[in-house]
Amino acid sequence: MKVLIVYAHPEPRSFNGAMRDVAVDTLRGGGHEVIVSDLYAMGFNPVVGRGDFTRPANADVFRLAAEQRRAQDDGTYAKDIADEHEKLRWCDTLILQFPLFWFSLPAILKGWVDRVMGVGFAYGGSMWYENGGLRGRRAMLSLTTGGPPSIYGPRGRNGDIELILWPIQNGILRLVGFDVLPPFVAWCPARLSSEERVVYLKEFKERLLEIPETPPIFFHESGDYGEDNSLMPGVDPRPRFQRAGAVAGSR
Ligand code: FAD
Repeated sequence: MKVLIVYAHPEPRSFNGAMRDVAVDTLRGGGHEVIVSDLYAMGFNPVVGRGDFTRPANADVFRLAAEQRRAQDDGTYAKDIADEHEKLRWCDTLILQFPLFWFSLPAILKGWVDRVMGVGFAYGGSMWYENGGLRGRRAMLSLTTGGPPSIYGPRGRNGDIELILWPIQNGILRLVGFDVLPPFVAWCPARLSSEERVVYLKEFKERLLEIPETPPIFFHESGDYGEDNSLMPGVDPRPRFQRAGAVAGSR
């Protein structure tokens, strides 16, 4: 595999940092190629703006989508974005490694998505879902939480983790074409003993080595939808919560 890990934690000695190190060592040890985008260490700018382009299409009015289209066509993306595009084109597997912040991605990682997953590169026109710009690649979320599994169950106060991850797994990864593998969730590492944390790292290692054989999460294909983009009569909706095998470490 050619694996791109986009890692978003400011502290290398964090549990996320440990997971990143385990991923790099395990995958390289298994003969795979790995590149890491360490967003905090890179000082990655997460804010979209005119600086995303070396030559603006419209110097008066800033229209992000139009600028992205143009930059895609004439190769005038800023270097930090062009570099991430190159890594994404290179990889066949993307892992996003992050702590859950406010039920979502840390801002620096959300900003990476905003700036890198541009119109014309990742999506746009008929280029979405199974026809997205990054089709043919797989992606997996690897995250940590502050809360325990019970609070993220179907009856949990925070809501089902599958529901919380839907905007990322469907709204970002699937929309731009990835086959999305079940996430690896390391629940509340800060509340565990060091022995329990070591077990998590071992489970994570096993999941990483299983990536090539892991079936992706089910998403409906475009043919299941009518012109109004709702499921056609006779097509059963995907199960609301696809839990089976979706979340590791739910001890
Ligand atoms: P750390 O606290 O860095 O690590 C946990 C423990 O693991 C530490 O004791 C560390 O020393 C130890 N460790 C490090 N390396 C190793 C190793 N190699 N082996 C064994 N142990 C090791 N949580 C939610 O559930 N939902 C939210 O919506 C949410 N929103 C948040 C918003 C913000 C702005 C912030 C700051 C936090 C939020 N949290 C939320 C909590 C956050 O998700 C957790 O604090 C985070 O996921 C924990 O991961 P970490 O890598 O930071 O753990």
